[in-house]
Amino acid sequence: MTRAPSIKTPLPGPRAKAVIDRDKAVVSPSYTRGYPLVIARGEGSAVEDVDGNVFLDCAAGIAVNSTGHSHPDVVKAITDQAQKFLHMSGTDFYYEPQVRLAEEMAAITPIAGGVRTFFGNSGTEAVEACLKLSRYATGRSNLIAFLGGFHGRTMGSLALTSSKAIQRRGFGPLMAGVYHAPYADCYRCPLGLSSTDCAAECLDFVEHQIFVHLVSPDEVAAVVVEPIQGEGGYVVAPEQFLQRLRELTKPHGILLVADEVQSGMGRSGKMFAIEYSSVEPDMMAIAKGIASGLPLGVAVARGGLMAWPPGAHASTFGGNPVSCAAALATIKLLKDTLVANAADVGAHLMNGLRSLIDKHPLIGDVRGRGLMVGVELVRDRRTKERATMERDAVVNAAFNRGLLILGAGKNAVRFSPPLVLTREEADTAVRIFDESLTEVETARR
Ligand code: PLP
Repeated sequence: MTRAPSIKTPLPGPRAKAVIDRDKAVVSPSYTRGYPLVIARGEGSAVEDVDGNVFLDCAAGIAVNSTGHSHPDVVKAITDQAQKFLHMSGTDFYYEPQVRLAEEMAAITPIAGGVRTFFGNSGTEAVEACLKLSRYATGRSNLIAFLGGFHGRTMGSLALTSSKAIQRRGFGPLMAGVYHAPYADCYRCPLGLSSTDCAAECLDFVEHQIFVHLVSPDEVAAVVVEPIQGEGGYVVAPEQFLQRLRELTKPHGILLVADEVQSGMGRSGKMFAIEYSSVEPDMMAIAKGIASGLPLGVAVARGGLMAWPPGAHASTFGGNPVSCAAALATIKLLKDTLVANAADVGAHLMNGLRSLIDKHPLIGDVRGRGLMVGVELVRDRRTKERATMERDAVVNAAFNRGLLILGAGKNAVRFSPPLVLTREEADTAVRIFDESLTEVETARR
């Protein structure tokens, strides 16, 4: 494939436009397509559209293609498995790839003592499994989640999701028994503290408000938290936030569920983002990058917790053998080189983006871990007024120059490339982002 980026037609090109016109007539209008990319094929960190334009991919679907587009090892694992059998419901029968993947999950997740894995097809199903198991294992019904969090869109996970009101609007009443607390958004700390001088005082809200005024802690089944908020704007919780959360939950027998659907599988520069805090959760929801793009979502739990009887929970397609094969190949690549690459190239990307701060007044904050990097755009650095329209304009300007990035939250841009991204490609992404910011800042004057 031609080196990315290489833009040959006005965007969208004629073939892309034809597909989009057909899509408009028949596909659900609930999807949020920011710009008109119609992919024809991908390779590594490059994506070619149906008109032959080549883009540098810093979106990876939405943080999914962990090993890059169509990594040969993953494609081989998929085709080898596809030639043997495509499906034999793991809920009613046995097959080795599912067992092997559960063994791998027990080995790579930061939970001690005989981890078990439940298999679904998506992030939301992984979260649903954690919610159901939390209730089942504790006999309690209430849950605590965080404002700005995103946990999925099915009726259980949606009750936890509080990223954007549009995601909940018109769907109520949602599942009862869910309480929301402020997340550790250190750039906008309501207490005026900085991440280095705080003791996670934002969690006082859980301890002194929710537990005192709303629900007794002995009736709370679980706290569900993203170690790095994804959809909410790539907001990194400081280590003390997760540590205090563990200290708050443990004495009350409240389970700690880490939603690592977006931050997991190497993206953060460690296999799981919660490892930065050394906190051991009781359960984890994992999806997106786990199978390099094939549908798979898993819930893992301390073995003793996952003690529900046959029939309690299952999914026909969950843990599809082809997805399991893709996941096993993905995990090998992550362990061999890609987690380390995410840490190395991620630091390089972050440095590059930070070097733009002095030049671009639109940049309010650059943050992240590994190849999960967010840039929050503001109209005024002092008031931190959110630059939402400008953010959308920057994302579009980058697209027109051949860089795929996505928005996150109201006014952040996320860089979530395939974990095969090279330092040179990171430099190209920074250069195009720089040009895109200049274009939008110039238009504002
Ligand atoms: N949890 C987190 C942290 C996510 O980022 C997402 C999706 O973006 C989900 C859950 C839901 O995943 P899915 O869209 O696969 O259902």
